[in-house]
Amino acid sequence: MNPAMWQCPKCAREFTRKNQRHACGTGHSADVLRDRPQAVIEVYRAIENFINNLAKVETVARDRYVLFRSRRIFVDLSIMQNAVRVAIHLGRRIDNPIFIKVVADRKQLTHVAKITNLAELKHIEPLIKEAWQFSLA
Ligand SMILES: [Zn+2]
Repeated sequence: MNPAMWQCPKCAREFTRKNQRHACGTGHSADVLRDRPQAVIEVYRAIENFINNLAKVETVARDRYVLFRSRRIFVDLSIMQNAVRVAIHLGRRIDNPIFIKVVADRKQLTHVAKITNLAELKHIEPLIKEAWQFSLA
């Protein structure tokens, strides 16, 4: 455990702020993927593998949502009927037509793409890595 972090006594998840409000536990990606088509499952598994190869990060799955978190959340997903909606939290704006939306807040720029296949995923993998690095800064 990282001594700079606060650990929830119930679920053992770690947070930067003491007594951070959260839903305890991390859920199961199998529940999130239930009844989804093979292509969507394939995209999801590829994202999960890519991220797990970067580093040991926390994966939290709930309802149709999955988020990946180091010190903070750097990617979150919504599992749709025929696509995985990927939100990537970056420190700069990327101009790429794959992103259907870019939302700026105080600390980051969230880039949203709907990914339906592995070829599309390849385009955003370097940015997933960049978001992970940014989340550690
Ligand atoms: Zn907890």
